[in-house]
Amino acid sequence: MKAEDLAARYRIDKGKDFRLDKVDPSDTAGLDIEKDEAKELLAENLDDMRKQQERLYAEGKWSILIILQAMDAAGKDSAIEHVLSGINPQGCDVHSFKAPGPVELNHNFLWRHQLVVPPRGRIGIFNRSHYEEVLVVRVHPELLEAQSLPEELAGKDIWETRFEDIRNFESQLANNGTVVLKFFLHTSKDEQARRFIDRIDEEDKNWKFSPSDMAERAFWDDYMHAYEDMIGNTARPHAPWFVVPSNNKWFSRLVIAAALVSAFKEIDPKFPDVSDDEKRRMKEAREILAAEIEGGRK
Ligand code: ATP
Ligand code: MG
Repeated sequence: MKAEDLAARYRIDKGKDFRLDKVDPSDTAGLDIEKDEAKELLAENLDDMRKQQERLYAEGKWSILIILQAMDAAGKDSAIEHVLSGINPQGCDVHSFKAPGPVELNHNFLWRHQLVVPPRGRIGIFNRSHYEEVLVVRVHPELLEAQSLPEELAGKDIWETRFEDIRNFESQLANNGTVVLKFFLHTSKDEQARRFIDRIDEEDKNWKFSPSDMAERAFWDDYMHAYEDMIGNTARPHAPWFVVPSNNKWFSRLVIAAALVSAFKEIDPKFPDVSDDEKRRMKEAREILAAEIEGGRK
């Protein structure tokens, strides 16, 4: 299976009527990690990413913003680890967004994200993002109150306004050379329970378990509703969502890498052209260098 086909299968780029139950969190597109095809595809994608990222960096025109959203224990961290294993860490920045502090609450909700969008030539990864505003803040309205918005701006239609602001933010990025790729790692509620149990049973994983994770789990249905509405309202051709079946971690990594590889194919970054004059200078430099090495070099 080609990377583009795999990515296209989970790509949502329009549609208010998006339904989450259309994507099975256990789907693996007929692939099996025990079989060679899936392993080869993973290795090929990583190899491809490595080559393309070097061109992206050298060309210095485009940038890529990867946004990861998910319920707890869906595998955001390990997805990041995997994507990073395919690229030069020097060309990539990861930003993790936790609950906003007082300074952040004194600014609009997009401010802290705008500050760290990737510059040309680089890949930025947002581990959680501005989308928390229409997820956790929507599920817990008291978080909106903490933002001290003027009352007339915090009415019932606030979520419509938030979606509009997010769409505008992302079109502005796209119009200026940032490719925006958004991933929802879609796990089932049962799979989350299994992963929490592992975190409790295995001592080395205890640190990953927090009682607040249980509290958020109790809001599962509210979150799913918020995710569905968010994807329907913010999936656009220039800023698509990928709803990634993530009950199997190897598969979610495969889809993320495939989406990145197909994005690279579209922008097709190239090493900068070398002019005749630059070639001449390099030739001269080469002659000088070769003469400097003892005994010379042909
Ligand atoms: P882990 O997988 O390690 O649990 P995590 O991304 O869940 O990683 P945590 O420190 O557990 O990291 O949680 C960060 C918390 O910050 C999340 O509960 C998230 O909802 C919250 N958060 C992020 N952005 C906002 C926001 N804008 N408003 C309120 N809460 C936010
Ligand atoms: Mg957490």
